[in-house]
Amino acid sequence: MLQNISPFSITRLPRIEFGAGAIRKLPALAAQYGKRLLIITGANSFTNSAAAAALFDDLQRAGFTWEICRVTQEPSPQWVDATVAAYTAGQFELVIGIGGGSPLDAAKAVAGLLKPGNSVMYHLEGVGPELPYQGISTPFIAVPTTAGTGSEATKNAVLSVQGEHGFKKSFRDDKLVAEYAIIDPDLLTTCPPEQIAANGMDAFTQLMEAYVSTRANPLTDALALSGMTAVRDSLLAFYADPTDSEARSKMAYASLLSGICLAQTGLGSVHGVVAPLGAFHAIGHGVGCGMLVLEATRLNIDLMEAREPENPALLKYTAIGKLFRGRSHVDPVGARVFLLHTLTAWTQQLKLPRLASFGVTTADIPHIVAHSRGSSMKTNPIELTDADIAHLIRVCL
Ligand SMILES: [Zn+2]
Repeated sequence: MLQNISPFSITRLPRIEFGAGAIRKLPALAAQYGKRLLIITGANSFTNSAAAAALFDDLQRAGFTWEICRVTQEPSPQWVDATVAAYTAGQFELVIGIGGGSPLDAAKAVAGLLKPGNSVMYHLEGVGPELPYQGISTPFIAVPTTAGTGSEATKNAVLSVQGEHGFKKSFRDDKLVAEYAIIDPDLLTTCPPEQIAANGMDAFTQLMEAYVSTRANPLTDALALSGMTAVRDSLLAFYADPTDSEARSKMAYASLLSGICLAQTGLGSVHGVVAPLGAFHAIGHGVGCGMLVLEATRLNIDLMEAREPENPALLKYTAIGKLFRGRSHVDPVGARVFLLHTLTAWTQQLKLPRLASFGVTTADIPHIVAHSRGSSMKTNPIELTDADIAHLIRVCL
């Protein structure tokens, strides 16, 4: 049953083209902006594919010219600044990002800065002067080739500096949202199983954190539930068989919805902790979410049951448990236990590692806790103390 509907806002979204073969629409969509393209992509898994060969044929036939820029790891502010400096004279009319979360975030940041030409450090949240971004951005089209980050639908580019003094922070503005997100599930065929597991857990975590976020609204709730239903029905099947086209489509859909939702609602404690974890240790974003989500969910539920039994997010965890159980007549506690059982089973079946295998020890916990209070932690459905966050990390070691 719908609760009383409080006022809410939905910020800018990309226009969306979803479906097997949707990438064939890219030349016609790109032509609205001009013929000179900067294509930002990953190491080579896309450019070596048959889909890429067909795309470049189509672009050539339609009279486009382009340059290809590769990003082989999570983009850093220095990488963005160097790339902007290298390509700013190229008169590009459109930036196309094709790949996983890193190429899409890289392309989004470069599209934002190609014309203004200033350092991204001027705008990065939580570091530097945090000057407002004025534009003008170069039009940007996002084409994801993984089902994970939802970056194709969001207004932020996450940039990383690795090491003890590292950080993961966002360059964020509505003007950075893609003109089009083209989601073609057939582009996901080359994903290896560990990437499917990590990306799938990221997408699920984003959907669940958006659903229980303090900024959730009925519209994002509807999308988050639809996305979580798709994950329920397809994550393990896609992991077992990446050629399963139905499972692949559902995970691509879930990932898209996770991006749409998180852009509106913010996230929660998993994303709050995974940012410093990934900055201080070589832990990829998705696998980090996968390692934390079970215990973070257990912690939120335990704290609400003890301290805030009227918290509306507790009802929402119950609703997710019922969704997973496939039955609405389950008692609330039983439904929440079923949710935790499901996350435990996924953690085992997707062979997710533990934090200790990345060299994280108890001595690292205070440093991670001290840097976990970025924007994501602010929308966690219950306030966590430093001791709560330290406990969460400790039980995931
Ligand atoms: Zn994420």
